[in-house]
Amino acid sequence: MSDLMPGPLRGALTPDRDSAPWWERVRRREFAVQRCDTCRTPRFPARAFCPACRTERWHWEAVEPEGTVESWIVNRRAFGPGDGRPYVVVMVRLAGVPGCLLYGSWEAPSREPVGGERVRGVFVGPAGEGPTLVGWEPVVR
Ligand SMILES: [Zn+2]
Repeated sequence: MSDLMPGPLRGALTPDRDSAPWWERVRRREFAVQRCDTCRTPRFPARAFCPACRTERWHWEAVEPEGTVESWIVNRRAFGPGDGRPYVVVMVRLAGVPGCLLYGSWEAPSREPVGGERVRGVFVGPAGEGPTLVGWEPVVR
């Protein structure tokens, strides 16, 4: 699959009230999820309250950007200027953070992901600017 390209989604997302602090952390190259102060359940994406116990007390907690490939798609449709080559969007299940799934760009354009393979998050963004997204690359064993 050498026709794949990396990172087409960079810089294209708009933070909302709940996710803005997460995007700010990404710009500082910090990887974190929310954790409920009451029942300790981790969660991602960011929300104002805990889906397990409904309380609104929580904090950001740094976690390792490591996980396994849960699923992925190969997008072949151009949605904007500069698009046109196929790219992969991968869904990753975070290791050690139950219930947390993240989407991101696949940063190994020489091939598609393999279900269950280990991956590590990398901070990516336009050249000359700070990171704007977390992409995922395979862990080389
Ligand atoms: Zn809770």
